[in-house]
Amino acid sequence: MRRILIANRGEIARRIIRTARRMGIETVAVYSDADANAPHVAEATLAVHIGPAPAAESYLRAEKIIEAALKTGADAIHPGYGFLSENAAFADACQQAGLIFIGPGADAIRAMGLKDGAKKLMRQAGVPIVPGYQGDDQSLDRLQRSANAIGYPILIKAVAGGGGKGMRRVDDAASFADALLAAKREAQRAFGNDSVLIEKYLTCPRHVEVQVFADTHGNVVHLFERDCSLQRRHQKVVEEAPAPGLPEALRRAMGEAAVTAAKAIGYVGAGTVEFILDVSEGVEKAPFYFMEMNTRLQVEHPVTELITGYDLVEWQIRVARGEPLHARQEDIRINGHAVEVRLYAEDAEGGFLPSTGRLERLHLPEGLAGVRVDSGVVEGQEITVHYDPMIAKLIAHGTDRTVAIDRLIGALDATIAVGPKTNRSFLARLIGHPAFRTGDIDTGFIERHLEDLAPITEVPDRLLALAALAAATPREKPDMSSPWTALGPWRLNLPYRQSIDLFLPDGAKHTVTLTRQADGAIAVGGLDEPLTGLPAWRDAYRFEVDFSGSLARAMVLTHEHSLEVRVGGLTFHFGLRDEAAGDKGALPRDGKLTAPMPGKVLGIFVKPGQSVAAGERLLVLEAMKMEHRLTAPATGIIKAVHVDENDQVPEGRLLIELDVEAASA
Ligand code: ADP
Repeated sequence: MRRILIANRGEIARRIIRTARRMGIETVAVYSDADANAPHVAEATLAVHIGPAPAAESYLRAEKIIEAALKTGADAIHPGYGFLSENAAFADACQQAGLIFIGPGADAIRAMGLKDGAKKLMRQAGVPIVPGYQGDDQSLDRLQRSANAIGYPILIKAVAGGGGKGMRRVDDAASFADALLAAKREAQRAFGNDSVLIEKYLTCPRHVEVQVFADTHGNVVHLFERDCSLQRRHQKVVEEAPAPGLPEALRRAMGEAAVTAAKAIGYVGAGTVEFILDVSEGVEKAPFYFMEMNTRLQVEHPVTELITGYDLVEWQIRVARGEPLHARQEDIRINGHAVEVRLYAEDAEGGFLPSTGRLERLHLPEGLAGVRVDSGVVEGQEITVHYDPMIAKLIAHGTDRTVAIDRLIGALDATIAVGPKTNRSFLARLIGHPAFRTGDIDTGFIERHLEDLAPITEVPDRLLALAALAAATPREKPDMSSPWTALGPWRLNLPYRQSIDLFLPDGAKHTVTLTRQADGAIAVGGLDEPLTGLPAWRDAYRFEVDFSGSLARAMVLTHEHSLEVRVGGLTFHFGLRDEAAGDKGALPRDGKLTAPMPGKVLGIFVKPGQSVAAGERLLVLEAMKMEHRLTAPATGIIKAVHVDENDQVPEGRLLIELDVEAASA
């Protein structure tokens, strides 16, 4: 193999390029209009433009990609994950074009492609599956009867589903029919296939998946498990290896079941067998069930690499070249512990809505001991609505779980991302949570601890004072050549007296007064106890205040009208103006409804001239694989609809105008 085309973008494309380069293999990047300046394009040996920004017109165009491979003389295609990675027709097309598809055979992809078929196959192979119904009879009557027989709560899953989409929990027989309709509608739209299966909903499960590898010589091994129980809306947020507290016997049984699953379908290459572990009666004797097999490299593969010491992309390439696996099962060992978090451009504090925009500043914690950073973007790049808004994966390894977690918190602390909102401080609170530290995890963890995971609203006086001083102290670098400033941190004269309003995440307002004293120190008022401080910036982020001889240091990031203060692993958020009173509220006084986030208009339910009642559904927006309903903030008459179905809209785009007065007059 001399040259590999990577049919992907972002961090996984860069990840594959790294290994290929180390192996002396050239790479070809493909890119859309939106990615012309993306790092994966710059880092590959060659790059080919394949179309406009929407994935359907670029990264999902199989024929374009194969054409690019042939044109550039590539002899293999690595699909990464997502996009075409689990598309059997694409794997076939590569082969027909004389290209090596770095992945399993099309038959194996097909066998695992639909959840119902995969489960039937696994049952035949003797791999345990969740009690449920995977039949072809899709009538309401039949499905309702199976649900009743299994016993509530049950889960409806789209057989073609993925990414947590097309899944509905149903708690009683009465709500089954409605949920089924909704699930089928979502499945049809998302996957073009409305078939569903019904299974028992486990109330306290852990998501434990096993990495498997198979070569073309009949060897199959597993590389132990990953625990991906920390999820939000069925999507992974934190992943780790090995699974905390997993008894050795259970680990062995799951590993063997995963190898059985791979053998049952003649698997080749890297794959992940996902199990659900029912820990409602504890982990000691927990039953586990096959959920699905992902026939590709997984986002969270780095934690496996860190505990086993193997490079899974290298293994993929070697297997694709026809080499036998170069490790036997007994050679593969677990060394220490690894934890990964997914750093996303999203507003974790404001309902986890995706956030877009230019990454004005990006500093990732590269070079810290035991920390690995797999990132897809660079400073200055735009996070767009077109692709997954992941900024980077931060992964930490240590001799044990505590060391790994501490290192990862340190890595999050050192991460600076300014521009779009990110989930950075949420992730730090999450992995710093005492219950996570003890390994007391299941898929309900985030939901259950949401209150503890919310931004901190109890702020000590010294911190309020520090925040107010940071907001008031100009950051401009003074002339460092002057002998007066070169000596140490600079201080600028603040006005004699000013007051700063600090808004906490719960909306509470603190007005802090700053009064300059004769000696240059600032008296801070409006607190329970008055304080006096001398503020100074050490550099663009490090701020310190000398409170009468006791030094407080913090990292302070300012963006638009907000301030982020980090001290000792904790993050405090302060607004500098009253957002609730501004133009952001749900009830626009002028009746203009704007998009609360970038997304796609899925449906419009009203026409101009139509009267609507308060709370009535007006429009559905899809963003980040989720549907968001926009409802009428008040009774009124629709004045204008400014978008069409399927329009992609940026945040803030005017969608609908409502004449609020008209109806009440
Ligand atoms: P997808 O392919 O959409 O990711 P999965 O079948 O892999 O869907 O399930 C995703 C997540 O949904 C799991 O990790 C788990 O948290 C939850 N889940 C799936 N099946 C069940 C079940 N039977 N009971 C409870 N939770 C489940």
